[in-house]
Amino acid sequence: MNVLPVVGRFAPSPTGAMHLGNARTALLAWLHSRALGGRYLLRFEDLDTGRVRPWAYDTIRRDLDWLGLDWDAESLQSERQELYEQALARLAAAGETYACTCTRREIGQAIEDSAGAPHGQEPVYPGTCRLHPASPGRPAAIRWHVPDETVCVTDALTGETLCQHLPAAAGDFVLRRNDGVYAYHLAVVVDDALMGVTDVVRGADLWAATPRQVALGRALGFPTPRYLHVPLMTDFRGERLAKRGGAPPVQALREGGEEAGRLLAALARSLGWDVPEVVTARDLLPLWRGRLFAANPTLLTNLDGMSKFP
Ligand code: GLU
Repeated sequence: MNVLPVVGRFAPSPTGAMHLGNARTALLAWLHSRALGGRYLLRFEDLDTGRVRPWAYDTIRRDLDWLGLDWDAESLQSERQELYEQALARLAAAGETYACTCTRREIGQAIEDSAGAPHGQEPVYPGTCRLHPASPGRPAAIRWHVPDETVCVTDALTGETLCQHLPAAAGDFVLRRNDGVYAYHLAVVVDDALMGVTDVVRGADLWAATPRQVALGRALGFPTPRYLHVPLMTDFRGERLAKRGGAPPVQALREGGEEAGRLLAALARSLGWDVPEVVTARDLLPLWRGRLFAANPTLLTNLDGMSKFP
């Protein structure tokens, strides 16, 4: 059988300490790559320099190292800007982008006027600038004129299918901000493709953004990776940990003398896995395989490399 070797990744933004939710996502992405005999990449998503904390890179590396989540290669998006520029230039050459000098306030007003903003969802940019040429002298963002298409994605872990009509669900989103920073959606799509990522394991908060990323990848002629969205970690009130100050960062546990194996066990138990009080990341490989097999047997049976399993 001729199948691609699995390449997975963990893509933290070095904007602060790694909290338990990030650690669990990193663990699951690692388990997925390793369970399938694949590679695991560490990619720092550090384009938004205003939010980057220089100390966070090393803290995240140490946290992963402490948890036993080894990676095969590391990259920084801040060092790959030429690639995003090239991708943007290709879309521009195809006439698929436009400059936008609308202010947030103007966009907000246009959304209100169009009455198109569904309650409780992100506001969708109504394409105001497509019709109005950019004002000279104002810094311009570059937007993608999204195709008038409905894009469906099926998650390889949950089996859920999400279909979105791009103009209504995503709108013409920004590829490069007006301060010159390449947008997350562009960078993530370019990087996943050029790094040969086959399996994107990431938090469920990004599920709704997946159809637009798939569409952008297609427009750039890239293959579509498999997506596996894992649940976000919540506290006992069901609130997302990332949004709260209360959860201890991994760094604090590590430096406070906690045992990595106990944290790994706690993370596994938070997923409902029945594990002893202290485990290694490797100990959890069969549990992830079991979870994958239950969810999507083809992910496992499509593999040659069973003998590579540790
Ligand atoms: N950098 C994003 C985050 O930290 C993850 C992006 C992704 O996995 O696609 O939430």
